[in-house]
Amino acid sequence: MEQIGLYKDGQIYDNITADELVLDGGQTILNDDSDNSLEILRHTTAHMMAQAINDTYSGAKFFVGPVIKDGFYYDFKTDETIGEDDLLQIEKAMKKIASQKLKIEKYSTTKEKIINKFKNDELKLEVLKNIKDDNLTIYKQGDFEDLCRGPHLPNTSMARYFKLIRVAGAYLGGDETKQMITRIYGIAFFDKQKLKDYEQMLIEAKKRDHRKLGTQLKLFAFSDNIGAGLPLWLPAGARMRDKIEKLLYKAHRVRGYEPVRAPELLKAQAWVKSGHYDNYRENMYFTNIDNQEYGLKPMNCVGHIEVFKHNQISYKDLPLKYFEYGVVHRHEQSGVMHGLFRVREFTQDDAHIFCMPNQVKESIYEVLEFVQSLMSYFEFDYEIEVSTKPKKAIGSDEFWQATTNSIKEALDEAKYSYTIDEGGGAFYGPKIDIKILDAIGRKWQCGTIQIDMNLPERFDISYRSKDDKKVRPIMIHRAILGSFERFIGILLEHTSGELPFAISPTSVVFIPITDKHIPYAQELKDELLDIAVDSDIFAKNESLNKKIRTAEKQKTPMIIVIGDEEVKNGLVALRDRRTNTKSNISKEIFINMIKEELKKARI
Ligand SMILES: [Zn+2]
Ligand SMILES: [Zn+2]
Repeated sequence: MEQIGLYKDGQIYDNITADELVLDGGQTILNDDSDNSLEILRHTTAHMMAQAINDTYSGAKFFVGPVIKDGFYYDFKTDETIGEDDLLQIEKAMKKIASQKLKIEKYSTTKEKIINKFKNDELKLEVLKNIKDDNLTIYKQGDFEDLCRGPHLPNTSMARYFKLIRVAGAYLGGDETKQMITRIYGIAFFDKQKLKDYEQMLIEAKKRDHRKLGTQLKLFAFSDNIGAGLPLWLPAGARMRDKIEKLLYKAHRVRGYEPVRAPELLKAQAWVKSGHYDNYRENMYFTNIDNQEYGLKPMNCVGHIEVFKHNQISYKDLPLKYFEYGVVHRHEQSGVMHGLFRVREFTQDDAHIFCMPNQVKESIYEVLEFVQSLMSYFEFDYEIEVSTKPKKAIGSDEFWQATTNSIKEALDEAKYSYTIDEGGGAFYGPKIDIKILDAIGRKWQCGTIQIDMNLPERFDISYRSKDDKKVRPIMIHRAILGSFERFIGILLEHTSGELPFAISPTSVVFIPITDKHIPYAQELKDELLDIAVDSDIFAKNESLNKKIRTAEKQKTPMIIVIGDEEVKNGLVALRDRRTNTKSNISKEIFINMIKEELKKARI
């Protein structure tokens, strides 16, 4: 058996807190904050969880236990059913394994021997089916052995700060035609405080869960009668969406974008041409019309290309920017749908910029400014990542170099800091990813800017150059929110439902004390509607206090009580829930105040 250890300056240690150490004879630097070392820790913890499950339950069989963005999971089955209540028990068994400081060792063996060893374990045999290598490694800790590529930490005592978060059902290998097995998610850190902070974040996240807020604020719902992953927008939610759309409409128009609309259903032939039919088919929905196959669009690019082709485009028209709130459908597996975060139908704030090669930089610059403006309105911090040419790529080196340089220059000139994902670009061009940071420190991938020379080629689009030649434009795909659904979900969790005034479903609630005060409330409501502000009149036969509580629960920014005094003198008794202040002001001052609030809503 090969000794696994942590090395520092050529010396081997086996009981140290991992910090700037090298694992497995020099392959990996271990440091608490690096992704690499956390991956090894979390993966090791996944094996300890498997060992604990194996010790605690009968008939345990294990599938795969990968590290994911935020922790790890392991897919497995046992004779008994495991629920949330059992997680603490498993954690306890894991802690025991950690305290035993079991040495973790690995040995190599042949695939044949492993198949023999696991001949009664249909899950392991399923894993082995997908492995081509003949020489495999087994990791051993105590009497527990598992097939794994590694690497692992040298002993179980190094993984001490972990938490099991959630248990879920998962189809074997993500295949809906196969059996459902159990999945447990967990997290691990080298540092005790980091685990504590993470647990605190989970508690905070639970409080802000957008699904809960969606119900409380009556924004959206899901129905079994409609189908999973297909959100229903309730009146308040539809109002909010409409406001975001209007805000963004203006933001696009001032930046020179033209609105376009393309159908949701396109001939399958169009998807063959775009390459989606060959490469993205399993994520799409198809149907037949008059004996011809059609597919629902998973992206808006093809429609925008057809719009481009509809006109004779000259170099003077470039850059040409089309935008659409494009409704797209993508097949998500039934297990992964999660509120508004993962749905099967969603709307993208999608745009395509067609430009000349020497306009790439200014186009990127414009989009970055757009991103900055939008993020600052919603009070989000964000990170930028640039992905460069992957191994499998089309297009000349000049194209890649020029476009990647344009991206970097635009970022540098605008003084943005960014990270680079070498080789992480799409096969057709480099891209920029925008990652939102929310109020409790979580990162969300939302917008992207992708440069593409593939689709213009495939659809043979061109513009007329100065010397009247047909020239191929460069296409830039761009979404800033990404999808309205996902973005609204993130925004709700970021703000705990305290939405900016201009996009609140109901910005103002009027509470008339008696019925005779309703006409004045109606007058004010109409006046607000003239400046595109939604308000509601609470005229139900309920106590004043109850109405105020309802408006507060709905997180209405402004609450206005109307009685004799207000009607007689043309006043409003305003209660600003956000600042917890009260004021008695004239109707005119109130309307002006609202207008000032609206001016802040500029992207
Ligand atoms: Zn492993
Ligand atoms: Zn596109």
